Amino acid sequence: MIEVSYPSLTIDIEKIKHNTETVVKACRLRNISVVGVTKACCGEPDVARAFADGGVDWIGDSRIQNLARFKTANIDKPMCLLRLPMISEAREVVRLAEMSLVSEADTARALSKEALAAGRRHKVVLMTDMGDLREGLQPQEILQAAMIFAEMPGLELYGLGTNFACYGGVIPTTEKLSALAELAGRIRAQTGCPLPVVSGGNSSSLYLLPEGIPEGITQLRIGEGILLGQETSYRRPVPGTFSDAFRLHCEVIELQNKPSMPDGLIGTDAFGRSPVFEDKGIRRRAIAAIGRHDVIVEGLIPADAGAVIIGASSDHLLLDVTEVERPLAVGSILKFEMQYSALISGMMSSYVSKVIGRGF
Ligand SMILES: *Cc1c(COP(=O)(O)O)cnc(C)c1O
Repeated sequence: MIEVSYPSLTIDIEKIKHNTETVVKACRLRNISVVGVTKACCGEPDVARAFADGGVDWIGDSRIQNLARFKTANIDKPMCLLRLPMISEAREVVRLAEMSLVSEADTARALSKEALAAGRRHKVVLMTDMGDLREGLQPQEILQAAMIFAEMPGLELYGLGTNFACYGGVIPTTEKLSALAELAGRIRAQTGCPLPVVSGGNSSSLYLLPEGIPEGITQLRIGEGILLGQETSYRRPVPGTFSDAFRLHCEVIELQNKPSMPDGLIGTDAFGRSPVFEDKGIRRRAIAAIGRHDVIVEGLIPADAGAVIIGASSDHLLLDVTEVERPLAVGSILKFEMQYSALISGMMSSYVSKVIGRGF
């Protein structure tokens, strides 16, 4: 038995499975299949397994290394690479993923060649940009690209997809998704490919589920909505899900009364910023043993009512705990809920131990 070391990030597999089932069920009601997006969890196979057990149709990840870990762990779901493949990784993409999202003919050619060499057909979802301006061809370029992709012998032109709320912050709407579905129809007519997948975005599209997703959208790619139970257009909870499947736990290393105003000539803080302060008199202040080297602290939400994060340096997190009701001491453990930025950084940090189980 390994002793837990702090800081630790607890991963409640049962809550992830429950969230997966909830999102999958809501999508099924609208005839939408789900790619469960694992990328925030750095290839942790237990998370992918919870997605699979919760009923996703596909596992999606942006990194080929993560897909490789899932294959090794015998996760029994078809895999989709979400980030546009690098040409240099085409062989691995075809070996590890059944499907990938593609916007470049040169990349498609490389995938086709590797698929032929491996004796398979690789599914591609052609990406179009509906205004957010990350990956994807402009809609007026898509028919021509689809004709080229459809001719490639190692590929199956399997779908049309788009992405929202990543670069431009563009929110998916019924109008935009209708335009996508309509474009898919034109590609079908032009190429003769059945195009079963029309992939209408990520967790930012979840808010449209009740009645806003038009006929013709057949798939969503969902990460945050499952992992953290939040849609990302308006940052509202996904009904029936848990927001605390992931929690950060860290230890109090100092607990003292201190003034709220620094004393002296104010220059910059440890990260070159000029801090501003409000005088609230003497406050109860805790230092927790975690900092900006471990996690993006702006994405942490204290679980204790009344606790407020007032600052952080590389290795120290400062909190005003004056209003916290439970008795705290040096050595107490503080818990935090995590937003996506904190989750990714915490999962990435080798200083944060990961504890997988249930009921933390
Ligand atoms: C990350 C990603 C997703 C999932 O995004 P969430 O907001 O976590 O649901 C979907 N599609 C692509 C292409 C991605 O890169």
